[in-house]
Amino acid sequence: MKIHEYQAKELFKKFGIPVPEGRLATTVEEVKAAVDELGLPVVIKAQIQAGGRGKAGGVKLAKTLEEAEQIAENILGKPLVTHQTGGQGKIVRKVLVEKAANIQKEYYVGMVIDRSQNRPVLMVSPAGGMEIEELAQEKPELIFKEAIDPFLGLLPYQARKLSFKAAMPVKEAAKLLMALYKLFVSYDCSLAEINPLILTEEGSLLAIDAKLNFDDSALYRHPDIKEMLDPDELDPLEYEAMKYRLNYVRLDGNVGIMVNGAGLAMATMDVIKLAGAEPANFLDVGGGANVEMITQGFKILLSDPNVKLIFINIFGGILRCDVLAQGVIEAAKQVDINIPVLVRLEGTNVEKGRQMLNESGLNFVVAKDISDAAKKIVEILGKKE
Ligand code: GDP
Ligand code: MN
Repeated sequence: MKIHEYQAKELFKKFGIPVPEGRLATTVEEVKAAVDELGLPVVIKAQIQAGGRGKAGGVKLAKTLEEAEQIAENILGKPLVTHQTGGQGKIVRKVLVEKAANIQKEYYVGMVIDRSQNRPVLMVSPAGGMEIEELAQEKPELIFKEAIDPFLGLLPYQARKLSFKAAMPVKEAAKLLMALYKLFVSYDCSLAEINPLILTEEGSLLAIDAKLNFDDSALYRHPDIKEMLDPDELDPLEYEAMKYRLNYVRLDGNVGIMVNGAGLAMATMDVIKLAGAEPANFLDVGGGANVEMITQGFKILLSDPNVKLIFINIFGGILRCDVLAQGVIEAAKQVDINIPVLVRLEGTNVEKGRQMLNESGLNFVVAKDISDAAKKIVEILGKKE
């Protein structure tokens, strides 16, 4: 899960990592009020969950109230296109207004889990502001890393070593890195990034950007983080799916799929592609799916206007075929189905499941096996030239 910069900075503050004084604003009026409180100059920052805002015009310095007003009008309510948002960009609904900092030096600080080492790795660089991917390509010798033993935690000598190498004021920087590690572990982060961390003209460190990602599997331990989720940042159908613990990713084809098991879902997508069509989504209802989850999953597929055909491909194991059939029949009662539904069932209680579908009075196309299903997909959608 991702959160916004302003939310990450609240957590930074809680852990003693210095951040600029700031106010969140959703209207031009609120921006003006924030300027009144903070004093000029201010930096106005678009709050969207994508990097590269600075280059895209989403981070602006205002020296006067009029300038701040103008910037707020230009940014709020409009899409911002950065290299991470895709062509349509993301609508900016909130801005963070901050007291502008005087930058003397910019550093990079990042922490991620390194799966090959099974531990968190802390990275710092004296070449801040640049994106880490770019830095890794162009000046890899300027990235300094320390792997952290999870039993010992980040050791003070490691923090001092990195601070020294990155030419940061060692005592203050080491303290900041220790605090960042504490935050990272306490909140089960998967990524923490400060780019840039700056040395101000006045000689102190300040995190002027902040990015935190969290391990979804650990969110149950952090209700305060869960609450920070911004539905505007998610695809509405993906958000809906999340509420029912459905593993759903929206894609841009026209064959909606419902499958149990991630492996079978991938294989099903391959079959659809081989047949010359494109999957509209990935939907793994999982082994423990109940009738309600199936019903909701089916509704989500139907509410995607791109979907022209639904393909249900179930290998009944833990999820029995009759439970699946019942879910599909329930869903069909609750919504109008005006597109063909192709079903391939195999496994536990398959006969019962098929019988239920046949006797439901609903119009399902039944496939014998996966290659038969592929043929039927082509028949139904018509051949692509
Ligand atoms: P990003 O482009 O989405 O990563 O947004 P950042 O928060 O990193 O801001 C982009 C750039 O704007 C930074 O790298 C800084 O160079 C600049 N910037 C941000 N805040 C300030 C500030 O308070 N003062 C000055 N002078 N520059 C700032
Ligand atoms: Mn940044």
